[in-house]
Amino acid sequence: MLVFETVPALKAQISSWRQAGRSIALVPTMGFFHQGHATLMRKAAGLADKVVVSIFVNPTQFGPQEDLGAYPRDPERDRAIARANRVDAVFMPGAELMYPPGFDTWVESPSLSRRLCGLVRPAHFRGVCTVVLKLFNLVQPDVAVFGEKDWQQLAVIRRMAGDLDVNVRIEGAPLVREADGLALSSRNSYLTPEERAQAPELYMGLKKACRLYREGERETAALGKAVRDYWAVNFPLGKVDYLHILDGPSLEEVRIADSRSRAVTAVYLGKARLIDNVLLSEND
Ligand code: AMP
Repeated sequence: MLVFETVPALKAQISSWRQAGRSIALVPTMGFFHQGHATLMRKAAGLADKVVVSIFVNPTQFGPQEDLGAYPRDPERDRAIARANRVDAVFMPGAELMYPPGFDTWVESPSLSRRLCGLVRPAHFRGVCTVVLKLFNLVQPDVAVFGEKDWQQLAVIRRMAGDLDVNVRIEGAPLVREADGLALSSRNSYLTPEERAQAPELYMGLKKACRLYREGERETAALGKAVRDYWAVNFPLGKVDYLHILDGPSLEEVRIADSRSRAVTAVYLGKARLIDNVLLSEND
């Protein structure tokens, strides 16, 4: 597996693959890999001849009070996991490479970005869109893979890529969970043992809405209330930032749920802000 820390070396390799007629898949990440990342890598390997994984803790998607400094990192372990998942190249740029002095251009899709997570993280998706577009330009992938765990991010990136005629196919990959239902996240490492023990209740609450939906409930207000009532009893350490039942692809709020509806949520648990989402009509 190749490891690139500079742009010229990366670009030379990309050109040589292109000249040999190879297709390229990109998996953008912030590292500290878990099985969710590994699933994206394996999906990417099935979609293109060569897989490039970027590892970059992107400072511009963190707010001033957020956890940029504390964000967990383990580049050596990440490289081993990438190698084990048939990744061809890892791109690990430094912050000064992505944002040299004088950097002054930003990409944003405001109507999708300033809601849900964007309400408490106002510059977050601007940072995400900008770095992802830069990575697209550097790697020139045919396809890029993003996890459905970050449902709003996937919607924002699809919109950005569509609006700007970016020549990259955007593929989503299903959310990967621990056996007890907690969505895998690098930030789960912030949880204390007590918080970790309660964390699966986040998903159990969302499953409550799925169960009611299957039983015929369609009013999103009733579905949302059932989830909040469940959390109030079973998840007292969780502080809900938001819980919405939305049309999945458009992120529009709906009064009556249908087969496209998703419950999407962000909850503070100790130092961690956990996000999760489920398709209401999903089967157990
Ligand atoms: P991150 O390193 O957290 O920025 O995530 C990099 C990519 O991995 C994003 O596309 C995430 O949506 C995806 N991802 C993170 N956690 C999971 C998970 N539990 N299941 C599926 N994809 C995930």
